[in-house]
Amino acid sequence: MSESRNTAFIARSLAAVWHPCTQMKHHEQLPLIPIQRGEGAWLYDMDGRRYLDGISSWWVNLFGHANPRINQALKDQLEQLEHVMLAGFSHGPVVELSERLAALTGHRLGHAFYASDGASATEIALKMSVHYWRNQGEAGKNRFISLAGSYHGETVGALAVTDVAIFRDAYAPLVRPGACVPSPDARLAQDGETPADVARRAAAALEAHLAEHAHETAALIVEPLIQGASGMVMYDPEYLRLARALCDRYRVHLIADEIAVGCGRTGTFFACEQAGIWPDFICLSKGISGGYLPISIVLSTDAIYAAFYADETARGFLHSHSYTGNPLACRAALATLDIFAQDDVIARNQTAAARLGDAFQAAVGDHPQVRHLRQRGMILAFDVEGAPTGFARRFFTEALKRELLLRPIGNTVYTLPPYILSDAEIAFLAHQTRAALEASLD
Ligand SMILES: *Cc1c(COP(=O)(O)O)cnc(C)c1O
Repeated sequence: MSESRNTAFIARSLAAVWHPCTQMKHHEQLPLIPIQRGEGAWLYDMDGRRYLDGISSWWVNLFGHANPRINQALKDQLEQLEHVMLAGFSHGPVVELSERLAALTGHRLGHAFYASDGASATEIALKMSVHYWRNQGEAGKNRFISLAGSYHGETVGALAVTDVAIFRDAYAPLVRPGACVPSPDARLAQDGETPADVARRAAAALEAHLAEHAHETAALIVEPLIQGASGMVMYDPEYLRLARALCDRYRVHLIADEIAVGCGRTGTFFACEQAGIWPDFICLSKGISGGYLPISIVLSTDAIYAAFYADETARGFLHSHSYTGNPLACRAALATLDIFAQDDVIARNQTAAARLGDAFQAAVGDHPQVRHLRQRGMILAFDVEGAPTGFARRFFTEALKRELLLRPIGNTVYTLPPYILSDAEIAFLAHQTRAALEASLD
């Protein structure tokens, strides 16, 4: 890339801002891109260069940057109420959002609890599950099960169910790790096995664990259909059906972490819908505010809610965050749900997903090092066999040179774009991915 006119600005950012998920020293080589503005699927930097946002700015953006409809809703809300505490108070946006989310679950999960980020939603679901069992007189049920390679956030509580070594190892002394059972990763199919066979094999391992440990287990937590952060690991919905049945049989809660896969990402509003099951808890965040403001929500059933409803304060769920149910964030989420309804987004995304799949099949399907090209809805990924060390950072840099924001996880290249890409943008995304791939493998 040619020299930035903003070298001084970048130096200030690197000196004063400790960037997330980053070894700061890598920025001696790795570019830091100062962004000025966004419009649709594009980000524009301070030098006027543009980048197609192929990962929705860390999986949060759904309908483009500076979306006029979400902007308008936020301007309206700003004139009325920016924030009020949610203990002892209520307001229009939080009630309307809770009702609409309940309706999206067919009123099966009709109680919405709010926080500000995904990891907090995970912790809330874990705490609610354990507290539920305690309120039922079963305080011994306080352990969790998660899948190999699972990611549910990085706070100390969420790390108990996150199986990504690089995020967890340094903090091992702080974490009370849950049990880890095999992932139904479809790539693990042995000769002749279908993805559903792999799912049944993984479910058998889950059952073996439950048979021994259900009495001390509060919940199983899963990322439905796609384990995102460990490299867009995709699996058959059969696993969710079997897990639901096993959780019922062994009296263990099922927590669906839909933080990444919810909000239409996989082709249905909730990924669980593709398995025809409902969990006891749904965690939502990321896309629910359209990528505008930090908000997370834990939805739970009447049965869970009822176990906390009592005269004693201590039987209640006393968890809180300062910005719980922030009206601006709720209003952004309502504007996002309006777009889903008005534009028939779930149906429209089927066409976009098919185009995305075709474009990538044509662009990288024949590359000799590309393995396991896979897709579900608006998430597409492939693995690069024999990639050199440092591949992810190299690819990121090569993609930026080609006006593309993609950030591989290890040797897995993936795209998870905003839903609003035009056909020309889809073609651009696929074509530049191929070019960046070739440049990173030289
Ligand atoms: C991103 C993510 C989280 C954590 O959300 P944060 O807002 O980053 O804390 C949890 N679970 C899944 C599946 C995620 O993708």
